[in-house]
Amino acid sequence: MSQSSDLNEFELISRFFSRPGTQHAESGVILGIGDDAALLDVPQGNVLVAAVDTIVSGRHFPEGSEARSIGHRALAVNLSDMAAMGATPKWATLALTLPEADASWLAGFSAGLLNLADAHGVALVGGDTTRGPLTVSVQILGYVPKGAALRRGGARAGDLLAVSGTLGDAGAGLALRTATAPPGRHAAELIRRFDYPTPRVQLGITARGIATAAMDLSDGLTGDLPKLAQASGVAAHVAVERLPLSQALQETASAEQAREWALSAGDDYELLFAVPPQRVAALQSAAARLNLTLTIIGELRSGRGVTWSLNGDDFTPSASGYDHFGRASTRITV
Ligand code: ADP
Ligand code: MG
Repeated sequence: MSQSSDLNEFELISRFFSRPGTQHAESGVILGIGDDAALLDVPQGNVLVAAVDTIVSGRHFPEGSEARSIGHRALAVNLSDMAAMGATPKWATLALTLPEADASWLAGFSAGLLNLADAHGVALVGGDTTRGPLTVSVQILGYVPKGAALRRGGARAGDLLAVSGTLGDAGAGLALRTATAPPGRHAAELIRRFDYPTPRVQLGITARGIATAAMDLSDGLTGDLPKLAQASGVAAHVAVERLPLSQALQETASAEQAREWALSAGDDYELLFAVPPQRVAALQSAAARLNLTLTIIGELRSGRGVTWSLNGDDFTPSASGYDHFGRASTRITV
């Protein structure tokens, strides 16, 4: 190990994670890093929204991923959960398990995490640091006006299904990164979509009162959509030819491969909404104001289950999203 392994836990935290200036009225931080726990102020009329996501080396990102990307992704996946609830993220805690205290790795990791935190006005208010196989858990905390959260269970038959941005880019990026797909001129752009996902936080907040249900697409449409349909007690239908695919993806992969990544690869962190037809225009203009596209990909119907069609014919997706304990837990082959 390098000389940096001399860093003790206290030095590591104060050098890379604790920053002065997070305790001001606007941040809601009454007490941040340094005490036994943080004290946080939730504005009146709001409810606390909490989520945690863990990313494990070799499972959620290839071993040897750049530290900055790991820091970014660890927070981004959590911000995406806040976005999916229509919540405003405010605070995060970080449980970091490291094989060694490598200063240059920690500098990259903390920059990736803290730059994204700054961009969203999120303060890192505590955490825990232990030694072991590289594992990063971020807990995100935020708030939403009472009764306004976007849940998975609010969709009704007749609502349309809409998705932000484009799908499949991250799946292509991961395949390019792990060299299971041949590189092309869009490789860097697609790999970036995997390494540095952009959580759609503002879109989620704007969708409050417009969408009837929302979730973020972390496991792929085939894995995630059934959860929304089931929670809402409705059936869902997707017209697969409508899935929004980026130019980069279309020029990199065959139509079939692109479709498969868009359906099942996951890691896109786009938002999936159920929205009544008369409110689609409102959601579309909210997205446009944020320079995002919003694409109608299908609809909710009475009944149960999810069906798919391709240009009018019945269609069966080849995989059904990522499940850590499912038979096909092979998202990353390392
Ligand atoms: P304790 O023993 O009371 O849990 P620690 O020594 O683990 O305290 O942590 C000291 C302080 O540093 C606490 O306020 C804790 O929240 C914070 N902290 C520890 N690890 C991290 C980390 N990786 N990122 C941010 N804050 C951290
Ligand atoms: Mg501790």
